[in-house]
Amino acid sequence: MEMIKLSGVQFAYNGFPVIKGITHSFAKGSFTALLGPNGSGKSTLLRLINGILMPQSGEVAVMDRHSGSYSAREMARHMAYVPQRQYNTFPATVFDTVLLGRNPYISWSPAKDDRRITAEILVKLGLDDIALKDINKLSGGQRQQVFIARALAQQPSVMLLDEPTANLDLRHQHEILCLLKELSESGITVLVAIHDLNLALKYCNEFMILDNGHVRAEGGTEIFDEKLIEEIYRVRIKIIRDGGEMFILPVEPV
Ligand code: ADP
Ligand code: MG
Repeated sequence: MEMIKLSGVQFAYNGFPVIKGITHSFAKGSFTALLGPNGSGKSTLLRLINGILMPQSGEVAVMDRHSGSYSAREMARHMAYVPQRQYNTFPATVFDTVLLGRNPYISWSPAKDDRRITAEILVKLGLDDIALKDINKLSGGQRQQVFIARALAQQPSVMLLDEPTANLDLRHQHEILCLLKELSESGITVLVAIHDLNLALKYCNEFMILDNGHVRAEGGTEIFDEKLIEEIYRVRIKIIRDGGEMFILPVEPV
């Protein structure tokens, strides 16, 4: 089943084209890495999919419905978006931050169910020990997990994450991607903008490479070849295969 369908999507910021006609479908339960150099349009595409931005031409359909026809509240019950940077302004506990993810379901004040769902997610992600800590006092890795927990509290069918592993240490990078892979295996459609090609290769099963607002390549691991990566990233690389796994070794900028 196609959860998201992009048809000829174009977008420009103040007349400056950034997304130049993208057609692509994301199937239920797929785990897609959105790749491409800085400025290629990854974050903009995620915002278009989430309905934060509307395309100037073409269409974004979410579960066979035009994205513009969803209210923000309704969209949040289907799709969760974890932006790249999260700024904190006031102190809040981990529990309350995750409980906020229930907002699209809450009409007056949180019900027992909302607190139960929040507590279950904290346990699932191993965050229950720090439930009462101020999120401003957490490490980067823990904070990212809290924001993913908040996204999960929305009980979404689709999760969009913009560089969720940026600034994380090796263990937390792998923990986050392992978790996202599990979520995709449970049927959630996951789309992640990411710079680390090897992390993407290890965990994702679909790849979409953006280059200057166009889709340059899409598909499974077969799309990766030395010439393509060199052209897009302007770095000479070597592809190394070990059993069923594939690794990209950067050699030098070209
Ligand atoms: P990526 O996430 O792949 O780095 P972005 O989607 O952030 O790419 O940016 C794509 C292009 O759009 C870049 O040229 C960037 O400078 C431009 N851009 C991004 N956000 C804005 C904005 N809010 N206003 C104007 N231009 C923007
Ligand atoms: Mg970006």
